Amino acid sequence: MGVFDWFKGKTTLQVVAEPAEAPSPPAFALDEAALLAQVEPLVAQQKFAELEALLRRTLALDRGPLEPRHVAYPVSLNLLAAAMSSQARHDEQEALLREVLTLHENVAGPDHPLTEQSLSVLVNVLGKRQKDAEAEAILSRALSKKDDARDGGRPSYRSLLRLFGGVLHAGGKLDEAAAVHRRGFVLSERAVGNNHPEFWSAASGLAAVLEKQGNHREAEVLLRRVADLKEETLGEAHPEYWQSLFLLQYILAVQEKYEEVEACTRRQLDLQEKTLGERHPETLSTMKRLSGCLMQQKKYEAASVVLKRRLAIAITENGPGHPETIRIHEALVDAERYIQISWEMRETFKNLEARGEAEGATTSAPTPALHGAHPCACGSGLRFEQCHGAD
Ligand SMILES: [Zn+2]
Repeated sequence: MGVFDWFKGKTTLQVVAEPAEAPSPPAFALDEAALLAQVEPLVAQQKFAELEALLRRTLALDRGPLEPRHVAYPVSLNLLAAAMSSQARHDEQEALLREVLTLHENVAGPDHPLTEQSLSVLVNVLGKRQKDAEAEAILSRALSKKDDARDGGRPSYRSLLRLFGGVLHAGGKLDEAAAVHRRGFVLSERAVGNNHPEFWSAASGLAAVLEKQGNHREAEVLLRRVADLKEETLGEAHPEYWQSLFLLQYILAVQEKYEEVEACTRRQLDLQEKTLGERHPETLSTMKRLSGCLMQQKKYEAASVVLKRRLAIAITENGPGHPETIRIHEALVDAERYIQISWEMRETFKNLEARGEAEGATTSAPTPALHGAHPCACGSGLRFEQCHGAD
């Protein structure tokens, strides 16, 4: 079965060129809700063959369903494409999506939102199949016939611009990507204002390219602005806001602004602990970044406090022998050893100064033993072998 079969052996262009006939009554109700009601149980039971047969029947019904403006039409096509994708029939899916695009271009016109949406769907599928050059060429060709001033008011056009920026970014064409993202960013702000998910997404896309270009400062300003807007609009307990805090931590870390990374990470951790609890995987992941950031700043005492919390949670959640528990314990041993070394260095220098021998003295601090009868360096007070039940 090829993709032309549901046009009864005709190509899209032949069908479109034919004069419309008087439609006969549809075999079943062709509204979106009715179609979805029939489709959902088949999807749930993974009956893809039946689903496909149903959708093909829907699409082939008389003249009406071939009309791309019919509500059931894009729904049917998208469901059919999704059904093919979930069966790993990628070539058929891609061919179907190309047909859909051609049909929309010819019937609805190249600037119709449906046409632009089907272009997006096709480009996304090409991207997933690593056909990046082709995705870029198709978008570039389509966008060269459009114009920001004329088309910028259309959400589907702005969405294409973001997609094109993303494709250029992925292809390493950073200057072009930044220019395209900037156009989308300006158009989105004009169309929907800055307190809107579309604007946030446009700003994040632009910030990502700016970061790659080494323009860290401007990326940081953008990400901060988005974080503040999300906090205002969605509230501090919203995961979208936390996602912004995460991106902000990243751009701050790139600039080695570790004090600010720490403050931002602590803020995210605090909110996640209050909302999700301290044992939630996302909370734990933030706690892990916090201890890493503290180690980076050589704030070993503070790192040790966080690592001890992580270790206690890991022992009860995963058990003492779990690889993650062991990794946390090793990090804690490191932190405690640095604390010990700096304490011993201070003591040594204090003694040297007291004896008036500090000048020109070279000292190497002794490393505390980890094994044998000595207590474990993690600070538990147990012997290393006994420490939290290590084998
Ligand atoms: Zn230990």
